[in-house]
Amino acid sequence: MRYFPLFADLRRRRVLVVGGGAVAQRKVQLLLDAGAAVTIVAPQITQWLQSKLQDASFDAVGWVAGDFDPSQLEGAVLAIAATDDRAANAQVAAAGLARGVLVNVVDDAELSGFIVPAIVDRSPLVIAISSGGAAPVLARLVRERLESLLDESFGSLAVLLERWRARIRSAFPDVAARRGLYEHVVRGAVAALMRAKQPQCAERELQALIERPAGPQRGSVILVGAGPGDPGLLTLNALRALQQADVILHDRLVSEEVMALARRDAQRVPVGKIAGGHSVAQRRIHELMLEHASAGRNVVRLKGGDPFIFGRGGEELEYLEEHGIRFEVVPGITAAIACGAYAGIPLTHREHAQSVRLVTAHCGDSLEALDWPALAQERETLAFYMGVAGLEKIRARLLAHGRAGRTPVAVIEHGSRREQRVTLTTLDDLDDLASRGQVMSPALIIVGEVAALARRLHWFGVPPRVWEALREAA
Ligand code: SAH
Repeated sequence: MRYFPLFADLRRRRVLVVGGGAVAQRKVQLLLDAGAAVTIVAPQITQWLQSKLQDASFDAVGWVAGDFDPSQLEGAVLAIAATDDRAANAQVAAAGLARGVLVNVVDDAELSGFIVPAIVDRSPLVIAISSGGAAPVLARLVRERLESLLDESFGSLAVLLERWRARIRSAFPDVAARRGLYEHVVRGAVAALMRAKQPQCAERELQALIERPAGPQRGSVILVGAGPGDPGLLTLNALRALQQADVILHDRLVSEEVMALARRDAQRVPVGKIAGGHSVAQRRIHELMLEHASAGRNVVRLKGGDPFIFGRGGEELEYLEEHGIRFEVVPGITAAIACGAYAGIPLTHREHAQSVRLVTAHCGDSLEALDWPALAQERETLAFYMGVAGLEKIRARLLAHGRAGRTPVAVIEHGSRREQRVTLTTLDDLDDLASRGQVMSPALIIVGEVAALARRLHWFGVPPRVWEALREAA
């Protein structure tokens, strides 16, 4: 290890910054955040630095207008050389070496006595990353990855723990027991409540844990939308939930690529239902959630698309609420949004459609219960979910209620996935497609003028097949 990592307390200590441009400004900003007393040496300085100097309530910055002189290092604990002149920077480095002051030369590891790491700031939690000057780009990449892994609540959690530190120490003199408590805090309810932006509840939960540590420790459930299949469409919150899960109860629609992003040790339980699956299966899912959460585990209930769009997410949460299990919800990109985007079909369009309806065409009663006169209105886009078995019925009802036979229809199978296939047809020809087109599930059916735009706007996967043309060719 070439560099010794350390976090320095710079409060009220003097740091010399040589240079007054944009680079120097960034360093000054960071130093001031850390409470350092900064002296800038430069013939000229930026507007922002000047405004800091003029801020009368603020005496942490001073400016020596002119060139660097080694005597300026007197009383400084660190110095940063941030001019665009390598010889000038080298002079600062040499002076620092002679006086035992550590000098950083920006972007020049060779001249530097210390280097400034890339940071992920969840103060008071700060993560510093360095490639030892070998490949700063790599350090930045690691930083970006960590940024996305650690949500904003980490900072507030650290503040809370700092405030309770002494009380926790006296309540848990035994080191192992104390560690157990902390583990539970950062993985369990306290952290979850922080994520849910309920800091007061988090604090009460922490207090309760300290006062009756032996009590049953309950887990919680995060209801997560996994999107349509492309793992790139997961939200950051979904990714974090997957990486913290102890148990994942997942639907059949969730893609393998998404599952591959889950924590390796997580127990995976497929609970997918076949279309028409009955309430026994649903009850079993409820029981499984309850069982695992009651045993103190972090449960992710993972559903295709968005959990609140034809996903029975509402029922599952009602059940958890009845049983006093805490939950969070992470929305996902629903099939209509994803299929529209990946087929090149804008669901609304100033010229063609002023509204869009998400409709379930699950066979049986639900199809009968729909408001067909309203669905048959012009200038509205319809997105039918679970409609593969009902294509003929959809066609007949819409035509019977006055929607034009030439209305464009797009059927998107496996939207956003490698196997995506888009078929374009019209309402008139939809029964022909149904009988001969071998439409596969999952598929979304988009009815409305906008569907025709897929001919021009498709960009993903294979180009759409045009059903009329296929029929004429046959
Ligand atoms: N909660 C899900 C919908 C569940 S209902 C969501 O928000 O997307 C299941 C139906 O969703 C399927 O029958 C199909 O109509 C649609 N669907 C889900 N994923 C799809 C995909 N990748 N491509 C096309 N349709 C999809």
